[in-house]
Amino acid sequence: MNIFSSEFIKSNTDVRSCPETALPEYAFIGRSNVGKSSLINMLTQKNGLALTSGKPGKTLLINHFLINKEWFLVDLPGYGFAQTGLAARERLRKMIDSYILLRKPLINLFVLIDSRLEPQSIDLQFIEWLGVQEIPFSIVFTKTDKLSVTQFLNNRKKYEETLFQTWETLPLIFETSSKTGKGRVEILNYIEELNDQ
Ligand code: GDP
Repeated sequence: MNIFSSEFIKSNTDVRSCPETALPEYAFIGRSNVGKSSLINMLTQKNGLALTSGKPGKTLLINHFLINKEWFLVDLPGYGFAQTGLAARERLRKMIDSYILLRKPLINLFVLIDSRLEPQSIDLQFIEWLGVQEIPFSIVFTKTDKLSVTQFLNNRKKYEETLFQTWETLPLIFETSSKTGKGRVEILNYIEELNDQ
């Protein structure tokens, strides 16, 4: 899929305020600093569409972007940001959960995982929860340029062993780097495939 246009439509804190639309929607989520904004900018090839910074946790909103006037890309808040208080974290969790559970146009959730790290319990819990709720999702390993092929395969294997050994069907796994553009074509083609179904 080529990206002809990508425009910011709206930010909000409540699934009920998301755009009313019949267009398909794809959301991106991950721990703060996982590389989500960089990935969104890489996919759309529009620097600054999603705000990147070294400061984790700044995006606390559900952000809708309209792509090619035919589908929505949704930038969800990063989860697990420790600096916000307990009450704020709980509010954020409820906002994310209700978006995922209630948003009708949502076709697939892309769950970003930092490929450099050993499996993190917050990611594992979140993925388990998606499985229980039967939410369609894919895994996106980020920052793969930062480690060797062997290191990456080791980390990926650890995830597969911890998470998916009891699952009947495995989610799709994408390997990406916002620095090199790795994984861009694969993710966009997958979205195109789902749009055509
Ligand atoms: P977010 O908080 O998940 O939106 O993360 P950002 O996109 O702001 O990225 C966090 C940090 O990781 C920034 O310093 C980025 O430059 C860096 N980063 C993100 N993606 C990549 C990548 O694919 N490769 C490398 N080398 N650095 C990355």
